[in-house]
Amino acid sequence: MNIIQCSFCKKPFQSYGARICGNCLEKIDKDFITVRDYIYENKRANMDKISEETGVSKQIILFLMKEGRLIIDDPESVEGGLLLCEVCKKPINTGRMCKDCKGKVAVTMKKSMDTHVSPEHHRNESANFKAAAKVQNK
Ligand SMILES: [Zn+2]
Ligand SMILES: [Zn+2]
Repeated sequence: MNIIQCSFCKKPFQSYGARICGNCLEKIDKDFITVRDYIYENKRANMDKISEETGVSKQIILFLMKEGRLIIDDPESVEGGLLLCEVCKKPINTGRMCKDCKGKVAVTMKKSMDTHVSPEHHRNESANFKAAAKVQNK
């Protein structure tokens, strides 16, 4: 167990692996549902409008976008640079990177995984998997 700083309210809390404290998590989850439902009904709403109509702070909406849980479709909000790709700084509407950069990272990650994971390891893993499947089939 570690004491870390909540990535949302910046207060220190005891973490079992989460980056957000319990208080924030609860609030964000509740707000997420509110905003998600609102966007579902109002697909073209921009950030200001969403925040105004739902009473959810822009900070939370932005946070949810970064987490990839919300996608804002309004081109104006996206072009306004609410959320920028962490690599090339292009405006995006969800997550931390644009599609192009995400693609590049995925390729790099795959490459480094291929070099780090030996074929031997792969074989063992699939053998274990088969064994596990057998047990489950009993
Ligand atoms: Zn917090
Ligand atoms: Zn990018």
